[in-house]
Amino acid sequence: SRQFTRPLNDLSNQFNTLLSAIAGAERVFSILDEDVEAIDETNIIDHRKIIKGDVEFKNVCFSYGKDSNTLTEVSFKANSGESIALIGPTGAGKTTIVNLLSRFYTINSGDILIDGVKIENYSRKNLREQMAFVLQDSFLFKGTIRENIRYGRLDASDKEVEEAAKLANAHNFITKTPNGYDTILQQDDGQISQGQKQLLSIARAILANPAILILDEATSSIDTITEIKIQEALLRLMEGRTSFVIAHRLNTIKNANQILVLQDGMCVERGTHDELLNQQGFYYELVNHQGMNEDQHIQ
Ligand code: ADP
Repeated sequence: SRQFTRPLNDLSNQFNTLLSAIAGAERVFSILDEDVEAIDETNIIDHRKIIKGDVEFKNVCFSYGKDSNTLTEVSFKANSGESIALIGPTGAGKTTIVNLLSRFYTINSGDILIDGVKIENYSRKNLREQMAFVLQDSFLFKGTIRENIRYGRLDASDKEVEEAAKLANAHNFITKTPNGYDTILQQDDGQISQGQKQLLSIARAILANPAILILDEATSSIDTITEIKIQEALLRLMEGRTSFVIAHRLNTIKNANQILVLQDGMCVERGTHDELLNQQGFYYELVNHQGMNEDQHIQ
């Protein structure tokens, strides 16, 4: 069956490349790759559920095509509930790491373990249910605000949707829209700001209640008050979950339990802010070069 599944997997990967750019799009696309999944999942002996959210990469090597490695021997261990900041220049491999976590692609060698079990032993469906994405370009579809939040967990009650919105600091602005939770959002019609979109996407993730979170910090300028609301909501969301943050704000990076510094697909430094400063290496240079302003965005 291997030969038969390969072209389908390639096709699936193409969908998934697209998919990885869109937060919360998993369910839309799951319809598209259902057939692929049915074949792919027959190899799963052990349908595990993620309970804790421990994540370990052991000497992971990966390349998208036949070219040289995109990731080379990447190793780290994130304990349940920890936050991991992924930093490094564009093209270093940050997005690739989070793509691999959701089994969008298959690694060439090494192991990815979740709760101590190889990632191949989890179905994509299960992985997607236990992970939520809050990305820069939050995925909103044409529908009411309520529907857009409920997308995080389709069987949530109206009350649960509103509770999630309150925790996400979104409730206030929602009640100020013309029809509140029933206000219909059109895609990109400028009805709500970029920052408010982020708050909705945080509300959606809170509702989904995943063990593992993938966050991509906004680099675009968001007004200070909304930025504070976002940061506060993110801290609530991250509480008790293993979080991978593609981080740009020095403050987020400083507060992470672990910082992974990536360069050319390799993890060149790993540790806490203080540990990495003491090493006086790449991270030290980055921070000193960019200054120590808490709100500084680093690239
Ligand atoms: P970062 O998130 O740190 O900017 P990425 O993980 O997106 O880096 O990219 C790492 C490398 O992999 C880059 O050289 C990039 O061009 C390449 N890459 C990313 N996505 C794909 C893809 N779908 N197909 C082929 N190459 C890719």
